[in-house]
Amino acid sequence: MTILVTGGCGYIGSHMTWCLHDAKEDFVVIDNLSTGFDWAIPQSAKLYEGEITDLDLLQTIFRNHDITAVIHFAGSIIVPESVSNPLKYYNNNTAASRTLIEACVKNGIKHFIFSSTAAVYGDPEVIPVSEDAPLTPLSPYGTSKLMTELMLRDTAAAHDFKYTALRYFNVAGADPEGRTGQSTKNATHLIKVACEAALGKRTHLGIFGDDFDTPDGTGVRDYIHVSDLASAHYLALKRLRDGGDSIVMNAGYGDGYSVLQVIDAVKAVSDVNFEVKKEPRRAGDSPKVVADNSRIMSNLDWKPQFDDLPTIVKHALDWEKKLQFKNSL
Ligand code: UDP
Repeated sequence: MTILVTGGCGYIGSHMTWCLHDAKEDFVVIDNLSTGFDWAIPQSAKLYEGEITDLDLLQTIFRNHDITAVIHFAGSIIVPESVSNPLKYYNNNTAASRTLIEACVKNGIKHFIFSSTAAVYGDPEVIPVSEDAPLTPLSPYGTSKLMTELMLRDTAAAHDFKYTALRYFNVAGADPEGRTGQSTKNATHLIKVACEAALGKRTHLGIFGDDFDTPDGTGVRDYIHVSDLASAHYLALKRLRDGGDSIVMNAGYGDGYSVLQVIDAVKAVSDVNFEVKKEPRRAGDSPKVVADNSRIMSNLDWKPQFDDLPTIVKHALDWEKKLQFKNSL
């Protein structure tokens, strides 16, 4: 029983590989290293460098290993880029996933875990947002992920194939043991950017809008620790192995924090009073996105270990310091 992790060298994928390593599962990784790093995964892990659209490579992997499940992270994730270059997203996310899913069906792979996103909800009217909310993504990124969810739904209806789609909320933090973290350059995510500001890698942090209809006027999000997210994938896989049916679940804690609360947490944890500037709203930003997580809580025996903003920030900051050292080598 070997698990194939696509995009396993990326931010969330690399945490998944450490989770599987710690659980003593057999796994192999496929990654084209476009945004990931081969040093982010356990040294003992087998890495196939290449594209998930390369059918010959997929066949080689299926032939060389007894693959029984796929955890699929590979894809593109930058929302503004998806607006300016939508076809890249329909190619890298939707079309590439189609090829991978087809190869899975042909090779009798029955279990598939998919990394989806809360972006499939667009600007949700009801908060916390449940899985049954209207699916009206605001970006090609969200649409490309939703299209993959629909392909999985229809494939599961037609074949002996079960899937779990996890709709991620705001993923942050890093491996508590400092083995991997968010390492991509030019990141735009709030906690990462704030940590960079605290370490002097940026001159300041911009607050994108302070006149939203929220308690302090800044955007509210549901920040989930990346290692808790990885463990949710593993439990989702175990659930399918135990005969669970296909399911779509929100992956979030159900708690909301504003931009100002995050800034306060980063300043407190880092003990640096970095500069903060008010800036205009970013196009397409919702005031508040928080998960209704009742479905994942009732379907998985998921006990988040890092559901605490200062802990998330501490791990992100520790990794950012390590990265600074790595980059200076
Ligand atoms: N944000 C901000 N400054 C930044 C980055 C983000 O004020 O430099 C805000 C953003 O407007 C949103 C929240 O922080 O309200 C989370 O944004 P992020 O890009 O981390 O994730 P998103 O929710 O857009 O996926």
